Amino acid sequence: MDYKQITSPAEKNIALVAHDNLKSTLSLWCREHKEKLSKHTLFATGTSGSIVEHETGLKINKLISGPLGGDQQIGARISEGEIDLLIFFWDPFEPMPHDPDVKALLRIAAVWNIPVACNRSTADMLIHSSLMGNTYTRDVPDYASYLNSRKA
Ligand code: PGA
Repeated sequence: MDYKQITSPAEKNIALVAHDNLKSTLSLWCREHKEKLSKHTLFATGTSGSIVEHETGLKINKLISGPLGGDQQIGARISEGEIDLLIFFWDPFEPMPHDPDVKALLRIAAVWNIPVACNRSTADMLIHSSLMGNTYTRDVPDYASYLNSRKA
């Protein structure tokens, strides 16, 4: 696979997802970091987004609920370069009916090399990073070169 570089803007597109047992953790985390988060554009799966919006007053672009396809909507946006960072508090203690979607979302985030926080301490590290308020250039798969290599 060849790679190219793309640059995330200082004002980032951040996706928020939390499984049911971790929705209050996500809400608390968002409240704690409301001022920093308000400088970015926020997306979330339906239920997580509604709860965070209600409890923090942050404006959230809400997608469909995760089990109904919201995780896949976020994955699609990541592969289209529209999400710069993912906060995904998935539940390590409960199997989910949409586990394949959860795995797919984590996989696509790895493919497109975006920062991912799967727990609060990693989310703390990310939100306090100086890169949050600055542009950040990262390697991503070079799709044009991939297509050309398939033609040969
Ligand atoms: P929800 O989706 O925010 O709509 O509950 C999260 C998930 O379980 O993927």
